Amino acid sequence: MTDGHRSNASREPVVYRLSKMSGFAFEKAIATLFERLGYTTEIPGRTSDFGRDVIATSSDETIIIECKHTQSGVGRPVVQKLHSATLSFDDSARGIIVCTGGFSEPAKDHAAELGSVLKLWSYEQLVRRGRQVDVYFRSEAQGTDLVFEPSLRSDGDLEVTVRKHWADHIASDPRPPREVLMPTVTRSRRLPALRIRYRLDEQFGTSTYPNLHRVRDRGTLIVGVDTDVTPVESDYWSKASFDVRRTDPVDGNPPSALFGIDLDSRAESVKRKVARSNSTSVRYTGRNNQTYTKSCIVEPEDVETDVLQVFVPRQTLDLRIGPTSGRVWIAQERGRTPRVVESDEFDADLLRDIGDGEPAVLCNDCATLQREATAPRPCEECRRTLCQAHHWDHPPAVFGSARVLCADCYRDISEHSALSGSPLRRTSRAVLGALIPPVGLWPEGFRVGALLALFVPAGLVTTGLTAGTTQGPTLYAVAALVWVVAATAVLKRTSNVRAHHRNRVELQAYERDWKTDAS
Ligand SMILES: [Zn+2]
Ligand SMILES: [Zn+2]
Repeated sequence: MTDGHRSNASREPVVYRLSKMSGFAFEKAIATLFERLGYTTEIPGRTSDFGRDVIATSSDETIIIECKHTQSGVGRPVVQKLHSATLSFDDSARGIIVCTGGFSEPAKDHAAELGSVLKLWSYEQLVRRGRQVDVYFRSEAQGTDLVFEPSLRSDGDLEVTVRKHWADHIASDPRPPREVLMPTVTRSRRLPALRIRYRLDEQFGTSTYPNLHRVRDRGTLIVGVDTDVTPVESDYWSKASFDVRRTDPVDGNPPSALFGIDLDSRAESVKRKVARSNSTSVRYTGRNNQTYTKSCIVEPEDVETDVLQVFVPRQTLDLRIGPTSGRVWIAQERGRTPRVVESDEFDADLLRDIGDGEPAVLCNDCATLQREATAPRPCEECRRTLCQAHHWDHPPAVFGSARVLCADCYRDISEHSALSGSPLRRTSRAVLGALIPPVGLWPEGFRVGALLALFVPAGLVTTGLTAGTTQGPTLYAVAALVWVVAATAVLKRTSNVRAHHRNRVELQAYERDWKTDAS
């Protein structure tokens, strides 16, 4: 059974209630099961019954199925009869006997001798195979619980809700978020699960101190029957109201013991777990000032549980954002915010947080989503939203902060940037320029700075030194400061020019991943 077979979005669970079923209805149910397992089926009918009730054919094989919906078990003669029927039918044919009443020991022994040519399916095997393809057999003998499911939005409603919800919290420019995020429901599944509610309220004490310790605990668990329910789903569905009772397609009555599992034993394991985690020992001081320890052991039977058989929906959305496409699994109940369960290509945690209102930014160069807290500002020229990898910082002329730009705006500005084609890129020039700032600043166009750097110390030498007055040291300090600032400016300018040059080289090879008309 491949996943591909199960991707039928509209496939509803089928429920068969065995206790009310005729032999012919049972044959039809088995035929439906095999159709869902990927076979074409045929019911030859009563008149031609040579121990072949249903014939299931695939491209690889033919299976002759004998259906016995009886209270009593099947004996060895039935096995022999079907075996000879398969032999007379076709060399490659094999046989399956489905019997809800079980099999006698000689029948099992004989089938075991025949090997893979003939298989016996008991009620349990039937239930197990059926569950894999959303066909459910139930039997009064297995219990009396009902099956519930929550009410859901329609596929169209879900798409609109998810899209709006995400778009509201995603900044995207120039492509508007609502036009970019296009989720489509491609598959809806209902996973059989149990909702187990537990409650515990116990008091521990001694005859003198009756209220020594009180344990209170309550909670709801969602446990998958075959398919694992993820922690996110368990959390989401534990708060859901399972108020839609599934009706039985056979006779319209509510189904019972649908999943064919022992509900009491599942509840028992939850009781044991809750009891263990709440057991403790307390220390207390008696009237005689002695310290005592009282162990407060919770017994599993002190924990109350109720178990509900439920269908937990899991919907798959195909999501395409620019060049990235992937699947997103959603949990959604009508009236509640849908929640992202898992995703193959996208960051499920981030999508979940966006759904909860965390602002995010969509890079219009590569289509990745980033939390607003970690994303750079949009392009200062054209407002394009960018990610960490695709924003370009244009350095300032000397001091100051860089400008955040997109690739296009950087290329435009780069043409007339004061940092382009500067001689200071060479290390020797930069070192010389820093040692003698006037030499460094003059060819860069900072003439005033260069003259200041040149004349202030020269002036000091003539005035401050010769006069030998009290202003001497102060003037010295000012002169030194001017010199240091000028030298720092030369070094800063050098590193800005280099950064700019690196950006220009990288930009020559840079191409956007996300190319559309809207770019
Ligand atoms: Zn990017
Ligand atoms: Zn721009």
